[in-house]
Amino acid sequence: MSAWRSIKWKLIIMYLGLVLIVMMVSGTYILLSLRNIELENSRSELELYAEKISEQVLEGDMDDFQGSLLKTVTNVFGIQGNILDDLGSTVASTTVLEAPYPMYSDKAIISAMNGEASFSTGEKSIDTFGLMKEWMSYAVPVRGETGDVEYIIYTRLDAGDMQTSLNQTTRTIIIAVAIALLLAMCMGYIFAQTLTVPILALTKGAKNMAEGNLHQVLKVKSGDEIGQLTSSFNYMASELQKNISEISKEKNRLEILLHNMSDGVISFSKYGEMLLVNPTAKVLLGLESTDMDFAGFVKEYNINAGVYLDIESEPSKQITFPVGNQFIGAKFTPFYNGVGRMEGVIVVLQDITEMKKLDDMRKEFVANVSHELRTPLTTVKSYTETLLDGAMEDPEITTEFLGIINSEADRMAFLVRDLLQLSRFDNKQVQLNIVELEMNGFLSMTVKQNRIHAEAKNQTLTFEAWDTPVVVHGDRDRVGQVINNIVTNAIKYSLENASIKISIEEDDTYYKIKVKDTGMGISKADLPRIFERFYRVDKARSRAMGGTGLGLAIAKEIMESHKGKLTAESKYGTGTTMIMWFPKQKPVLEEISI
Ligand code: ADP
Repeated sequence: MSAWRSIKWKLIIMYLGLVLIVMMVSGTYILLSLRNIELENSRSELELYAEKISEQVLEGDMDDFQGSLLKTVTNVFGIQGNILDDLGSTVASTTVLEAPYPMYSDKAIISAMNGEASFSTGEKSIDTFGLMKEWMSYAVPVRGETGDVEYIIYTRLDAGDMQTSLNQTTRTIIIAVAIALLLAMCMGYIFAQTLTVPILALTKGAKNMAEGNLHQVLKVKSGDEIGQLTSSFNYMASELQKNISEISKEKNRLEILLHNMSDGVISFSKYGEMLLVNPTAKVLLGLESTDMDFAGFVKEYNINAGVYLDIESEPSKQITFPVGNQFIGAKFTPFYNGVGRMEGVIVVLQDITEMKKLDDMRKEFVANVSHELRTPLTTVKSYTETLLDGAMEDPEITTEFLGIINSEADRMAFLVRDLLQLSRFDNKQVQLNIVELEMNGFLSMTVKQNRIHAEAKNQTLTFEAWDTPVVVHGDRDRVGQVINNIVTNAIKYSLENASIKISIEEDDTYYKIKVKDTGMGISKADLPRIFERFYRVDKARSRAMGGTGLGLAIAKEIMESHKGKLTAESKYGTGTTMIMWFPKQKPVLEEISI
């Protein structure tokens, strides 16, 4: 801001202008009045003198005008008196002592010759000292008895004197104006200072406030309007501080909430710019920079499910999109301002990978169950139809077909049994009857039961028993089911002449029962999946052998319900080792919900 535009200078200039106008008007008025008074004075002096001359000279000695004239006393300095005859020639004059008298040519004299007394000003002549003078003159006719003009009395004054005194007065007034201006300037400055200092303080305070310093309190120095303004300013600052702290508290609360939410939140303005993004959203989306607009967001994550910014009054839109290995569920909801106009969109993000996996698993499970049931059902149906269509006539075919129908029904029954068992594990409805099982005896018995199957394939099934008893805690039937399943698998998935060895090992916490075969083995890709429900490496082979694909899944559930584990090691083409881990400590089992 230029200094000349400040209030201080404006006030000073206003003051000076005011004083100048007042002084000029009053000075002019005084000067004009003085001039009028001077003029009036001079006129009356001239008239008075003319009267005196007329009384003393013309009414006295008519022969010696000059003598009488010189005797006429006046105390007015520089006034000249003359007597002229009716033709305008000077017959006596106070300017010279004797003839020749000076000749005058003056408008007033001409008027007097015509019988009229009058004044004239501005008549100029050069005086006896050769100086140019300006006169103020008065001529009055003196009439004789006949009424004609006999003489003219002509008085004049040096108007220069009057001008000099007027000039002096003007000078005095100019000096007074100058002093007044100086004083006005000082006063203006002082006044402006008292006005601008608090204003400057207020300005500084406002600047401070804009920079965030709301704790300042300005001093109130007066009770005038500026003082009131300062108090209002202080009040405003304190109110502002209160409001801001309230808002920031609220903001903090919201920030904490947003920061600690397990859901990701992103909001976009209606123009598409990103307004906020919380840390969870950044993690879920793998976002590094936050300068992404709505279009960029949609493009980056390939979202093309009809999501757009101006969803206005539409209800929120739920979509799912993949980010790396994860699946993100996003809900797009518009938000509005106080007057109900849409301001932008809030996107709430959730990691639904697990949910999606479970959902996919459920769908897959249902598909698998349907598929597993459909095959035997189709077989049963087609054989029954064939029998009904007349094949029943042939008892041999009937027996064969009924055998097939029977085994398919068995398969379905096994499937349903296994499914039921799994479902019980899922619903935690399996009641375990935990007892102490001596594994040397238990495993010897299993070997005995299964030897016949192994021998049928020319396989050797052996068990290396310990010299000391090995006691594990478990449900006899369930543990038997697991061991049987594993041994059966070893026999099933090994070719002729393979050897199957059962052994017991231990570490600090577990007894490990290993069933090692020299069978076909399982590839690395299949190995982690063999415990999944319905997973079979070779479907046709498994089915042909009456497997449901649920055996290992059930075995795993049983081991876990005993607080143990079931793991597998295998090399494709070489053989497989299945390991059952039984905790040495008696397991504390979960509550059963029935
Ligand atoms: P199944 O009823 O088909 O036997 P399981 O759950 O018992 O189902 O086994 C799942 C799959 O694991 C089997 O289909 C088979 O491919 C594989 N498997 C299990 N045990 C062995 C083993 N000892 N050697 C090779 N493959 C095996």
